[in-house]
Amino acid sequence: MEVLKITPRGYCHGVVDAFRIAKRVREETDGPVHMLGMLVHNTHATDDLQAQGIALVDQPDRFAGLSQIKEGTVIFTAHGVSPQVKQRAVELGLKPVDATCSDVVRTHELVADLANKGYDVVYIGRKGHPEPEGVMGEAPGKVHLVQDPEDIDALDLQRDRIAVTCQTTLSVWDTEDLIGRVKARYPQAEVHNEICRATQERQEAAVEAAQHVDLVIVVGSPRSSNSLRLVEVVKKLGRKPAYLVDKFEDLDLSWFVGMKRVGVTSGASTPTQLTRRVIEYLEALEIPA
Ligand code: SF4
Repeated sequence: MEVLKITPRGYCHGVVDAFRIAKRVREETDGPVHMLGMLVHNTHATDDLQAQGIALVDQPDRFAGLSQIKEGTVIFTAHGVSPQVKQRAVELGLKPVDATCSDVVRTHELVADLANKGYDVVYIGRKGHPEPEGVMGEAPGKVHLVQDPEDIDALDLQRDRIAVTCQTTLSVWDTEDLIGRVKARYPQAEVHNEICRATQERQEAAVEAAQHVDLVIVVGSPRSSNSLRLVEVVKKLGRKPAYLVDKFEDLDLSWFVGMKRVGVTSGASTPTQLTRRVIEYLEALEIPA
């Protein structure tokens, strides 16, 4: 099979930094070390960190997760946590270490600043994802999470000052549509598009590459927002089939029948060796015409 290796793909600076922080903390700490949720949303990377002695506490509710940790160090993940979670960790006598991506930190600071200045903040993000949960904690009651057009239609904001911003790992195009919808309802809304450069570049490259291949494989875990969005944008804008696989064993040979050229990309938290295995497997694959 002919394989187009889409670039850029794979690790972003925020993921690399989070690994570096976790590794340093584990090396320099004698007592127990925990991560409050998956450090980055990849199952293999998480298994690897656990094998290195960093325990995973994976509760959707970060406060419930904290209450399970009896002592030692707690690492906040690349997706960030709310100020209230940080404070609770200190109250419990834990040693907090922050591995939040600098791009996410910037969104926290932006939202806190806007709320202080009296804005209602419309925040486009995925419900249930830890990043929106952390950002919303910066200004409880002033940040309004919207995921779909229906959520925007249901808004009832009374302040004159309104801003719209977003999660870092969303679809570039869907987010533009949703921002447009917010502007249509609240023309005075200030726009702060916070999609990170890594997400944007990977999506643009995948959509462009889709023009030159029969289908696209995205290597990433099902909990990875940016990996899921890569699949979506290839299907919607690239108009090609796209599939998410966590590892090469997940490839389904029926996808490739009648196909000649496949594009391969990966999410920002996908270890390089997993993508390499997928590429090697596909390059060796012979598909009957
Ligand atoms: Fe940071 Fe973007 Fe990477 Fe998320 S995808 S860790 S926001 S650089």
